[in-house]
Amino acid sequence: MKIICVGRNYAAHAKELNNAVEEEPVIFLKPDSALLINNKDFYLPDFSNDIHYETEIVVRINKAVKHIEEKFAHRYYDSVTVGIDFTARDLQSILKAKGLPWERAKAFDGSAVIGSFVPLADVGIISDLNFSMKLNGQTVQSANSSEMVFSVNKVISFVSRFITLKTGDLIFTGTPQGVGPVKAGDQLMGFIGDREMFNFKVK
Ligand code: ZN
Repeated sequence: MKIICVGRNYAAHAKELNNAVEEEPVIFLKPDSALLINNKDFYLPDFSNDIHYETEIVVRINKAVKHIEEKFAHRYYDSVTVGIDFTARDLQSILKAKGLPWERAKAFDGSAVIGSFVPLADVGIISDLNFSMKLNGQTVQSANSSEMVFSVNKVISFVSRFITLKTGDLIFTGTPQGVGPVKAGDQLMGFIGDREMFNFKVK
């Protein structure tokens, strides 16, 4: 499986990092070795002093698809969770300044945290999901999926023009504003509505 992520998909977050809102989705990938599941501890890597959380709605592809129109994209996922797209912001800034790919800052081991998946039908509709993240008990990110610049269906349609999506692939749909650093000892809890999806610690 592969992990496909969308960058700059919330206008307020693009602004907080001084990025433009793009006319097409910004896409990058993480390898399967980046996955962190079952509320396992996240270990801070030694190559960064500024690891940021990015809380994102994540959908899981349930059948292979390529070149799908936006209006049919909803048929290719039916479960959802929230995850953390951990980012080495210091390293990313260096890479961005040089115009280089972001992989080292985005695709490292443990950088793709996912909560437990639930049927989308149990939590609502994809275009109207409230989600949030509590850092040490304090809500630091809170948004609604309707605020996405590019909807989940639009992202799937766009990606499928370039990359065949396969069963089990994950789409991280971008973070709203409020990203920030983590340190050892932090506890992160992710929610869709008031339903807890993940709860893990930083070591
Ligand atoms: Zn992200």
